[in-house]
Amino acid sequence: MAGEPQADCLFCKIVAGSVPATVVRETETTVAFRDINPQAPTHVLVIPKAHYPDAATLAARAPQLAADVLREAGEVATEDKVDGSGYRIVFNTGAGAGQTVFHAHAHVLGGRGLEWPPG
Ligand code: C5P
Repeated sequence: MAGEPQADCLFCKIVAGSVPATVVRETETTVAFRDINPQAPTHVLVIPKAHYPDAATLAARAPQLAADVLREAGEVATEDKVDGSGYRIVFNTGAGAGQTVFHAHAHVLGGRGLEWPPG
């Protein structure tokens, strides 16, 4: 069923607490934690607690939850004080775009200059 935890999903395990993460924010529907391989001074992942494989599927099946993720991304940027200088919210979608964990997640990147186009 859509949104149900997946036994083999790393981020479902972080939600369940069976895999450790440095959690910076948690709401009823989302968790935000520092990326273990940071690409910028601020690099936080915001995930829905419910399992959806990617951002587009999340938005199509649970639009309020997708909005929760985006709102939390903004809260992370404010708390890390990168909102003033600018930051990036990235949803890698599909293996060809670099998605490696198939549980929807927003990367919040900031604290350094960010080039465009991205690599
Ligand atoms: O967009 P993508 O699927 O590549 O992002 C997955 C991210 O999850 C990576 O940036 C990786 O460093 C991060 N990760 C993590 N904690 C883990 C495993 C992966 O922060 N235990």
